[in-house]
Amino acid sequence: MFRKILIANRGEIACRVIATARRMGIATVAVYSEADANARHVALADEAWPIGASPARESYLVGDRIIEAAKQSGAEAIHPGYGFLSENADFADACAAAGFVFIGPPASAIRAMGSKSAAKTLMEKAGVPLVPGYHGDDQDPALLASEAERIGYPVLIKASAGGGGKGMRVVESAAEFPAALGGAKREAAASFGDDRVLVEKYLTRPRHIEIQVFFDTHGAGVSLFERDCSIQRRHQKVLEEAPAPGMTSERRKQMGDAALAAARAVGYAGAGTVEFIAEDEKFWFMEMNTRLQVEHPVTEGITGLDLVEWQLRVAAGEHLPLTQDRIQLRGHAIEARIYAEDPDRDYLPSIGTLAHLRQPETSADVRVDTGVRQGDAIAPYYDPMIAKLIVWGPDRDAAARRLASTLRDYEVVGVSTNLALLRAIVSAPAFLSADLDTGFIGRHIRPEPDTAEPDAVSMVAVALTLLDGSRPGEPADPWDVADSFRVNLEGWREIQLRFGGTTRTVRASPGPDIAYRLTVDGHAWAARAVPGGVSLDGISHRVSVARRGDELTAIRDGRNAVFEVVDPLVPLGAKGSGDDRVVAPIPARVTQVLVAEGDVVTKGTPLIVLEAMKMEITLPSPRDGTIGVVRYAVGDMVEEGTDLVQFAASPAGAESA
Ligand code: ADP
Repeated sequence: MFRKILIANRGEIACRVIATARRMGIATVAVYSEADANARHVALADEAWPIGASPARESYLVGDRIIEAAKQSGAEAIHPGYGFLSENADFADACAAAGFVFIGPPASAIRAMGSKSAAKTLMEKAGVPLVPGYHGDDQDPALLASEAERIGYPVLIKASAGGGGKGMRVVESAAEFPAALGGAKREAAASFGDDRVLVEKYLTRPRHIEIQVFFDTHGAGVSLFERDCSIQRRHQKVLEEAPAPGMTSERRKQMGDAALAAARAVGYAGAGTVEFIAEDEKFWFMEMNTRLQVEHPVTEGITGLDLVEWQLRVAAGEHLPLTQDRIQLRGHAIEARIYAEDPDRDYLPSIGTLAHLRQPETSADVRVDTGVRQGDAIAPYYDPMIAKLIVWGPDRDAAARRLASTLRDYEVVGVSTNLALLRAIVSAPAFLSADLDTGFIGRHIRPEPDTAEPDAVSMVAVALTLLDGSRPGEPADPWDVADSFRVNLEGWREIQLRFGGTTRTVRASPGPDIAYRLTVDGHAWAARAVPGGVSLDGISHRVSVARRGDELTAIRDGRNAVFEVVDPLVPLGAKGSGDDRVVAPIPARVTQVLVAEGDVVTKGTPLIVLEAMKMEITLPSPRDGTIGVVRYAVGDMVEEGTDLVQFAASPAGAESA
């Protein structure tokens, strides 16, 4: 076995490979771009080497730099993860030429499957069933149009070099064909530098079922069964599960055999996935992905195997750990891909900092594969995935219920997410009854809004955060302790919160112990913070509050209600001050001093700016007058009640200048 490997990737898959390597006692070398200098995969690896600027073209896609890092670090093998260089045959060759083991299939197998058209020709010879279509070299538009006619509309035009749904067009009729062909070719040329296309029958209600195969370098191969990836948005996978609902052992065997034949036809070794499109009892080859897939944890869930461990063993020349008859299928696993995407902007990546991130607790049945932590950024350069959530249950119902409840544990503030879409999918009756096909989302899903309405629980949680600095749901975050404080309330106090276009008011008065009486929408509650949430009249509710400056987000059941504080503390400070004094309303740091001794000010002139609880508090002058003494400077820490500024004793007329 290897002593040290380099992982030529980033994000969750780099972290996931590192985890297995560590368990196997293999040292890990990470590589990173400028944007990833503090990324999670860098922190997890034994060592990490910089390989260039943030855009992938200047770092993660530069094979030479990665190989150089492997040389310098003394790694023996290179794991490419998925995406980036994982299906780049030239990179696999370059690794071998430089003396490194490429943890993946032979370059020849990558090449053979690299073109969807060429792969189909090969598969035809190997007796693997194909969707009726045309995948020839002749790209004459007239010929393609007549082939479409022969196949029968609707047809699907696909880029031969395609991936990620690019260069793909559904064509309903002959009249639309020329324009669709032009569009597909332009997109294919721009994305892959290759405008060749194939045309195939477009199935209207198919399922996407793929088979995970594994081969060693001694010719043995096994099927690790299927995954159903029919829940897609715009032909891109959103949810994957195994086993496929309704799969019989007979059909599983047929598909497994077809997949093994496909892999054998290209001399495969390592982990690979043969993708099929299926309708009714029939299935046809679509393509083979010559790498580990995003959704491999689903297979790990039902087999109890570690596919990365198998990859490492095969790459090191070992035999497959198990024969086909020893591989067991147990229970049901589902994976949801959690993305930083904006549902209001057609699921474009949502770029930003994960100001607050809490992920579900993991257990034997709940797995979270992630590459980010709270405070990390979703950068514009890479895939905006936050995590993969994988749940296991003894059967599909149990797994689906587990997934639904676990999705509600997600707390994300700072970027938009697809969580509302995922929640809507897992609660849809058609999903629960396993009525699946690739058009499922379009037909069944109207996602609930991403944001929650401001209810009493979230408003109370936000008010308590402002009142005593405790953050409901986050009792043990040491990060918060420094700016915790407690306000001495005298009588009533109003907290004004802006939500959307409206301003809502919470009236607060101190109660016994740490409880408050809070009045929200005319109803008074005995409220206090409790571990994991807030208690209203003795009944506790789960809620978390995340704070960014004046913005407070209450998170319940994975949904966010975002409030803006309307000057919560200034009136308090002003109230406690005599007419001649300006005092700090809370313990704070001085961030700006806007006046000096002798300055003439009028009532309301900003004098000093403080910062506390990551919030700016501007202290205005309580009256017209001349500044006598400014007692503190920028950077000073001041206690609650500290005198900050004193007015000059003002003889009549002194302010006339
Ligand atoms: P890519 O490599 O760009 O992701 P694939 O060939 O893997 O493209 O296909 C992606 C998805 O497109 C499939 O999962 C399926 O939903 C849909 N698709 C592909 N071929 C067909 C077809 N012949 N009929 C209907 N849908 C198809």
